[in-house]
Amino acid sequence: MIVEMRKDTTQDEIDDVIYRARSLGMDVQLNSGTDKTVVAILGKDTGKLSTDVFAVLPGVESVSRIMKPYKLASREFKMADSIVSVDDIEIGGRRIVVMAGPCAVESEEQLMEATMVVKSAGACIVRGGAFKPRTSPFSFQGLEKKGLELLAESRKRFGAPVITEVVDPHDVDRVAEYVDILQIGARNMQNFSLLTQVGKKKCPAVLKRGLSATITEWLTAADYLLAEGNDKVILCERGIRTFENSVRFSLDISSIPVVKRFSHLPLIVDPSHAAGHYSFVPAIAKAAVAAGADGLLIEVHPNPKEALVDGLQALTPSDFSRLMKELRAIAISVGRYI
Ligand code: PEP
Ligand code: MN
Repeated sequence: MIVEMRKDTTQDEIDDVIYRARSLGMDVQLNSGTDKTVVAILGKDTGKLSTDVFAVLPGVESVSRIMKPYKLASREFKMADSIVSVDDIEIGGRRIVVMAGPCAVESEEQLMEATMVVKSAGACIVRGGAFKPRTSPFSFQGLEKKGLELLAESRKRFGAPVITEVVDPHDVDRVAEYVDILQIGARNMQNFSLLTQVGKKKCPAVLKRGLSATITEWLTAADYLLAEGNDKVILCERGIRTFENSVRFSLDISSIPVVKRFSHLPLIVDPSHAAGHYSFVPAIAKAAVAAGADGLLIEVHPNPKEALVDGLQALTPSDFSRLMKELRAIAISVGRYI
């Protein structure tokens, strides 16, 4: 249930609404927008409550029910676009934020070379996996702690924030010590204990769409992070399973306008894991920016032929730099910049 307060409401009136909700056994989340305050009343029994319980309180302008399963991620809760700041980089504003780097951190030389390449081409955030949840247990699983240390070193040397995937809920604190953004992988989109831990950490987090998740399931998973008070949530479309097998996953381009309509959260697109092949990555990346994505997450390797993971979908430094030039023109044509 959404309680919209009048523009001239007082703190005491807001506190009264919160008090009434809590005394009825409900949880509360506030959106203290610049324009007006919205109080979300949350709990499994809100359906049984009459809206009048809140409508009669002073300072309340309107009370409505959110009919969708997701609440805090919805536009009903927050009308204005959310912007997630990482250092001075705003994700969800006019700038198209490009995060790029290797699938996995493999060595110091590889990560530093990749960082140099992607930064000089215009990417502002560096990606690199330290924990690699692989389809097969016999595949390379990542450098783990050493990988985290190298990401921190890349940040120190080159000044660009870094993002990496966290796989285990018990690792959230440790991983967050080394990186700026935690990534929740597609296979963990509904790992609710991981979501809760990342929510409690309150640090910027990229939530990838599950391989077979609907947009509603994805936004409802985002509510797990938001419910813990983490409002720094960035969604990432990375392709879903369909009957089509000429690419690794089908990039659901329509999820971009759909998410933008129904959610206030910033949304980036990962064309690499959707494409599965480097030759398809540029077209998908450009389509994503044209369709309204707020950023991209792209795999780039200094030498894809030598990559331990996902070499086939990694862009070479020169392909990435060409793509960035093309993306700039598209960004301008949709009123954005890179
Ligand atoms: C990744 O970004 O390295 C990754 C494993 O992606 P996904 O979770 O989308 O498969
Ligand atoms: Mn990968």
